[in-house]
Order: sequence, then C-alpha cells, then structure tokens
Amino acid sequence: MAAILLDVDGVFHVSGEPIAGGADAVRRLRANGHRIRFVTNNTTRSRATLAEELRAMGIELDNEELQTTPRAAAETLAGRRVLALTMHAIVGELEGIELVGEDAEAVLIGGADETPETNLVFSYMNLARAFHELEAGAQLYSLHKNRWWQTRNGPLLDAGVFVAGLEYAADTDAVVLGKPSTPYFESALKALDADPSLTWMVGDDIEADIGGAAAHGMKTVLVRTGKFRPDVVEASRTRPDGIISSIAQLPDWLEEHL
Ligand SMILES: [Mg+2]
Repeated sequence: MAAILLDVDGVFHVSGEPIAGGADAVRRLRANGHRIRFVTNNTTRSRATLAEELRAMGIELDNEELQTTPRAAAETLAGRRVLALTMHAIVGELEGIELVGEDAEAVLIGGADETPETNLVFSYMNLARAFHELEAGAQLYSLHKNRWWQTRNGPLLDAGVFVAGLEYAADTDAVVLGKPSTPYFESALKALDADPSLTWMVGDDIEADIGGAAAHGMKTVLVRTGKFRPDVVEASRTRPDGIISSIAQLPDWLEEHL
C-alpha cells in the first residue's frame, strides 16, 4: 500500500468544472488501502470551502485530509506582525498571525483568483506598501510562486509575477510556503506517516508538483489535464515516473506499477 499526495486544481477540476472519474478514482484508491492526502496550492478559498466544493463533486474527504497554503502560513508566521497581500476569503485561515498595515515583521503574498478582487490586492499602492516594509527589514513570504494556472478560459496570470517583482525591487528572496517547498512536502508526509520513497505525488504541474516531489525523494505521476502542456513537459528536465490521461486512470496505473 502506498501513500498518495493528490494535487487538486487541474487534477479534479478546472475552474470548478469536475474532471471525469475523479470521485470514483478516490473511492478506488481508498478501497485498495492507499493513504491519501490532498495537497493544493490554492490561495483563494478557505479549507472548509475547498473541501465542501470537492464533496459537491462526489469526492469523499474530511477537511483534515486537505492541506492548504494559508494554513501552512499560519503555522510558519504564528505570533508575528504580518502585512498580508492575500484574498479576503483566506484571512480567517491566518489564525494566530497579527495582521498589520505597517511596521510588519513579514510580508505575505497570496495568490490570484478570477475575480476583480485580484486587482485590488495587487494594486500599485499595496505593492509599494509591501516594498516599503521589505526595505525596512520585513521578510518576504509567498503562499506559492506559480507563474500561471489553467482556467476554463485558458491560462491566467498567477501571483508569481508579484513575488518575483518584489524580490527584484527589494533585492531579496521570498520563502515559498506551498509546493514545491520542503516544509510543505514534509508536512504532508508527516500527516500520512509516510516514507518519501513509498509515496506518490500526482499532479498537473511539472514544476511545483512533479519536480518538487521528485526533489524530495517521491515518485511522481503527471496527469494530462489542467495545466499539462506536452511541449513544456518535453522541454523540462523533470521526468515523471508515469504520465496518465487523467486522474480516472490512476487506480489501474498504480496497481500495475506498485
Ligand atoms: Mg494543479
């Protein structure tokens, strides 16, 4: 029996549109005795909301099985004064962090979503505020540094551009809290009490999912859904252990390759 880390966006849905066979695949993986954890870089909704959305697609899971980046931030930045450039929906997840508008010890950047709120969060005024705090000594943290993500209308610019921009302006490196960071993967392995060499990461992102997990000693399966692009995979130095059409093929594929 294996431990399996399942990415969510682009694996189980695109813009909330379910990818066929996801619910059944989860049911079969559980029936086959595998331990499962859902690991998402989503930065726009609370864990409870995300879990509820997955259950509405027929996927059986407890909230605790879903690992999110805002909760990783809450653990890392607990007790600190933080200027947060994040979507309003995740502010409730940042429990234990003191959210401030100035004199911050850390600047936290979250991700974008498909609404006009993104425009407000990453306004020039907010980015200039963040730059000022970094210049005054605050440390830069980001929920992730993704370049783009796949929506039903095609690829959309993600928040990585703002992270990179602040790194450039303030001449600093952000600490990334989500995939592919070491603390994020370690936290997932610990939750499943899993050895990396007996753990599979399944995702649609050749960098954050596949490259990240492989660098941490895990085996990897890339799905041809979501942000999968054959030319990007061919150009990448990262080689997944398996490539499957979609999450629907995972149970059969694993039984053959375990
Ligand atoms: Mg994904």
